Amino acid sequence: MNTSPAMSTFDEVNVFFDRAADRLGMADGVREMLRSPWRELRVTVPVRMDNGEIEVFTGYRIQHNGARGPYKGGVRFHPDADVEEVRALASLMTWKTALVEIPFGGAKGGVQCDPLTMSNGELNRLTRRYTQNIEHLLGVNRDIPAPDLGTNAQTMAWMMDAYGQIHGHTPGIVTGKPVELGGSVGRDSATGRGAIYVTTEMAKDMNMDPAGARIVVQGFGQVGSWAARIAAEQGCTVIAVSDVDGGTFNSQGLDVEALVKLKDEGGSVQNFKGGESISNNDLLELDCDILIPAAIDRVIHADNAPRVKAKVIIEAANHPLTPEADDILNDRGIRIVPDILVNAGGVIVSYFEWTQNLYQHTWDMDRVNDELSKIMTRAFTSVKDRVQAEGVTYREAAFLIGLERVAHVAELRGFI
Ligand code: NAD
Repeated sequence: MNTSPAMSTFDEVNVFFDRAADRLGMADGVREMLRSPWRELRVTVPVRMDNGEIEVFTGYRIQHNGARGPYKGGVRFHPDADVEEVRALASLMTWKTALVEIPFGGAKGGVQCDPLTMSNGELNRLTRRYTQNIEHLLGVNRDIPAPDLGTNAQTMAWMMDAYGQIHGHTPGIVTGKPVELGGSVGRDSATGRGAIYVTTEMAKDMNMDPAGARIVVQGFGQVGSWAARIAAEQGCTVIAVSDVDGGTFNSQGLDVEALVKLKDEGGSVQNFKGGESISNNDLLELDCDILIPAAIDRVIHADNAPRVKAKVIIEAANHPLTPEADDILNDRGIRIVPDILVNAGGVIVSYFEWTQNLYQHTWDMDRVNDELSKIMTRAFTSVKDRVQAEGVTYREAAFLIGLERVAHVAELRGFI
């Protein structure tokens, strides 16, 4: 973690936003409208814990921008999920859905809690109370939550059930549900798969053989574990992975399927027999071709950016680099593919899930992965073309495209 963050996460994301707005010559009023969240809800979430005591948590649902369609964004359960972090993540959703051209706006939810220390019963009660407190903002054509850090398909099943108790059975109210409850096949792997599509395209662009690339992945949850699995399936050598407790490293390559099995059995990757233990900080500084941060935000900052040795950073996590780190790495010639492109696979397959729910259809895995690949490739190409045309970074290009699209639609709708 960054030891002394000078700015909030929202301020940091807005550094990237402002650079794009400056380049587009955006008027102050338009800029302010696009930067500011349209609606913010803070809720108190009391939960009876297993020991009989009541604990009171704070939660948020922030709807950043709805110009392009219903609000869409995950729900995070994490001790750092404060209002600034949730705002930042909500705004990233606005630029992400615009960049990949799916018909949603941007939102995010969060509850400040530590799910790792809570029982299933406590998490079920927390999720239900949080859902009851935000349900008046939700709707299949208003705002559709999904999983994020610390939440998963089970959390979405509880949210759907709590919403359904008030409004009747409504599978399309959340995405990332279990398949048996109307979830889409391929949603669990979608974000990691999308990240590896981007990695492959980027490697080709740099004349790097993706099959020979040495990859490091921070975070071995929903996103990181699938990214590592798919990278390994494609012949890449995954030399290190980590979770919150620490990591494991093997210069000859890790057996990723064995690591998945260890995690499924409740183990920590740090204790993996097929590698040597490594700290999360050292992992980020390993000599490798491709570094994929897939855990939490702001893990690469001014202090450690000068020591990062990867040739490419693929931002599978949201906002893993501070603006200072971004500048340092750009100056060092390290390519950075930004979060709003890399991790868009999750919201893209969420869009497919929502569509399937609305039409009561089910798609098979080939169709989901084919359509995902088409949208990711189209988005990557649009960013790459912009990089080449204007000599900007991949992040600048992605923000330029996202901002332009949201501003254009706001104008068409008569907001500005
Ligand atoms: P998750 O909870 O499933 O997994 C998170 C992983 O990160 C776990 O392995 C955890 O142990 C590890 N971790 C937590 N704190 C850490 C720390 N301080 N240092 C190192 N590792 C740590 O979450 P996820 O859904 O995989 O989300 C990971 C990132 O990807 C987040 O930034 C999230 O916003 C982003 N993201 C997720 C999705 C999705 O579909 N789940 C979509 C887009 C973006």
